[in-house]
Amino acid sequence: MRSGVSVELHSGERYIIFARVKIFLADIPAIKECIYCKGHAGIICCPMCLNAAHHAAKESIPWHVLTDQCVSTTTLDLTKFTKLTREVLHEIARRLSASYADLQSGRITKDEFELQQKIRGWNYTPANVILNVRFDLDLPMIIMVDWAHVYVHDGLADVEFGLGMHTLQKHSKKALDIQNWETTFSCSPCQNQRLKLHTCSMKTKNTTTIRTRSSPPMAVSS
Ligand SMILES: [Zn+2]
Repeated sequence: MRSGVSVELHSGERYIIFARVKIFLADIPAIKECIYCKGHAGIICCPMCLNAAHHAAKESIPWHVLTDQCVSTTTLDLTKFTKLTREVLHEIARRLSASYADLQSGRITKDEFELQQKIRGWNYTPANVILNVRFDLDLPMIIMVDWAHVYVHDGLADVEFGLGMHTLQKHSKKALDIQNWETTFSCSPCQNQRLKLHTCSMKTKNTTTIRTRSSPPMAVSS
């Protein structure tokens, strides 16, 4: 968010918040929807590597068999993979845009255009977030995949946040109510300080437990 977002606080003060995207967390189908990589069904299938080839590509001989420039996704030696950089990814996006222009003007066929997309592991889109300077995404550095389902979607955090939201719903309806409700909790190591839900563990009277990995759950006064 390079152009910022204007927000008004309860106090009436107005601020512009700037932010940089540091984590792009989703499973591969969702990532594919957002940034138009080929994804796990593609021949070149990893949005973070330049040369990772699907080990069992359906429609052709796997490319790691055809060329030394590709590495099978089953390879355990990570040094064999070439990490994509933002600059290279931008170049890929620019070349795909040029190929699309060639397709539109009839200089290449649809099959040739689709081959260009397969070779690069990315699809063309006119709404290209990769080259959007307002987002300024360093995609190869911020994409996170593997732990999405473990911790987030149907994972541990999903369950924990669900329990937390259920408890918050019971106790409060507005942001101010939540703030007041929070102050009824206390626990070490932040005894007598305003509770920070993201750093503390606690157990409420109704036995709902909110915990983090940093400390075990503990009973609190409420
Ligand atoms: Zn990879």
